[in-house]
Amino acid sequence: MSEAKAREAICGIGASIFSRGLTAGSSGNISVKVENGWLMTPTNASLGRLDPARLSQLDDAGRLLSGDPPTKESFLHRVMYEERPVTGAVVHLHSTHSVAVSCLAEIDPADVLPPITAYYVMRVGRLPLVPYFRPGDLALSEAVRGFAGKHHAVLLANHGPVVGGSNLDAAVNAIEELEETAKLYLLLRGAQTRYLTPAQVRELQE
Ligand SMILES: [Zn+2]
Repeated sequence: MSEAKAREAICGIGASIFSRGLTAGSSGNISVKVENGWLMTPTNASLGRLDPARLSQLDDAGRLLSGDPPTKESFLHRVMYEERPVTGAVVHLHSTHSVAVSCLAEIDPADVLPPITAYYVMRVGRLPLVPYFRPGDLALSEAVRGFAGKHHAVLLANHGPVVGGSNLDAAVNAIEELEETAKLYLLLRGAQTRYLTPAQVRELQE
């Protein structure tokens, strides 16, 4: 993807995410790998009102080349790219249902959501819970690093999901699938539910 197209894609997808209430206020951030670095959404910017010309352009070392300063959560993105070289884009949201699930006391931190649908299994798979750290604590980046080698999607406790993909569409589709599955999980809580069986999950993973 050319840099100009990547700028338009980030702003278009940001507006779509914001207009559908998938992240509120100035929360949420998006990055895309481009030649010699990354494009990233700026700090304190609403995903609903991004300006293609003001996106943060960073070099391979993370230095700001042009645009506004990057999101303060840029380290979450960096860790995904560093640990998963196939990553072409990363999306992080404070999406309501995923955040709600990340606060539940009884979830399995090794695999937060059950296999409710085939698309969740194919687009997200196993979802680990990263322990809580206060905003700005760089220990969070090391905690995410511990999972990123094996997982393209992680859920930050009491915070929200971080998802990498081979390109922006893949990352966005996966994080939206995660959010929908979190919503389904909450809707089904207390009801007797048939999840996919281990054999059905294995069939999808093959
Ligand atoms: Zn966040």
